[in-house]
Amino acid sequence: MFERAWHIGTFAKIPVKIHWTFLLILIYVATTAASQGSDWSAIVIEICFVLAMFLCVILHEFGHALTAKRFGVTTEDIILLPIGGVARLRNLPEKPMQELIIAIMGPMVNVIIAIIVFSFLLTTFGVSYFNIETLENLNFTNWSGFLPLLMISNIMLVLFNMIPAFPMDGGRVLRALLAMGLGKLKATKIASIIGQIICVILIISGIYFEAYTLSIIGVFIFISATQEYRSVALDVAIKNKTINDCYRKDYHSFTEYTTVKEAFEFILHHRDRTFPVINLMGQFSGSISARQIQLAFKKDPNLRISDIYNRRLISLHSSTGIMNAMYALRSQSELILVTEQDAIVGVIDMDAIQQFIEMQS
Ligand SMILES: [Zn+2]
Repeated sequence: MFERAWHIGTFAKIPVKIHWTFLLILIYVATTAASQGSDWSAIVIEICFVLAMFLCVILHEFGHALTAKRFGVTTEDIILLPIGGVARLRNLPEKPMQELIIAIMGPMVNVIIAIIVFSFLLTTFGVSYFNIETLENLNFTNWSGFLPLLMISNIMLVLFNMIPAFPMDGGRVLRALLAMGLGKLKATKIASIIGQIICVILIISGIYFEAYTLSIIGVFIFISATQEYRSVALDVAIKNKTINDCYRKDYHSFTEYTTVKEAFEFILHHRDRTFPVINLMGQFSGSISARQIQLAFKKDPNLRISDIYNRRLISLHSSTGIMNAMYALRSQSELILVTEQDAIVGVIDMDAIQQFIEMQS
């Protein structure tokens, strides 16, 4: 989703990128305006308006990113998607209060923009400008509607962002408030349930009022809320936990001269999916997965493990964090030997970690 974004500049050391689908918005705006009989100047005004709104969205994201920076949280980049902006924070702040402030500072930027535009209009046109009739007749046929519409859109942006559901800022504010008393996991759970209820209301009212965009937004928020809960649950489950909590003490190893046929029969009757391999000198020399054994069995059951196994095996001390072990399992080898005082005490693979996480939640 985040690939194919153009880098448009770096501000305060944060790269700002625009996703290519953003162009579709401009094309969409221009073609709908043209099909509704707008003249060229109106189309130009509308496109300028879309660009101005996206500038407001970038500033909103900088509101998050620069506040996060104050708490020592770095921002990977800011990406503009047709549905809005995303500031990708590298890590989340630990303290609920910090998360609350980071979440609030985005919408706060739009509040400030709205106030600035409001003050400008007030000093230029006086109080009488703000009556229902003027506001009702705002449109893009000339530039006079530009600023008032910009103000109204910024207010809408604030209201939309404060919907208390992930990934909206309102969802983060709600979670942070709950987390102050309940801890992060429970707070996220309650916040995502509240968010999902709101999503269902959005979806149903979207259908009822035939405002289908509302329903689509509802579905989108619903999915994000579920994902957020899963990722927090994972974080909480394995945070501060070491592989000592989940490695397998009981494991089977194959020797290099085991035949694929023997290995295949073994995996049919056992749950484990990865195995260490012992070489002719009696040392651990690599690993093999059940899948590799299955594939080799189809080719030639008389092959030996020595023909097919991965000659790569790393070991980690049992006090290694689960997070680091997961990283090593993804990038280095599918099985890791677990050591204690230089002795091998067991093995760990993704399955073992997965089972541990499931037990926690
Ligand atoms: Zn935001």
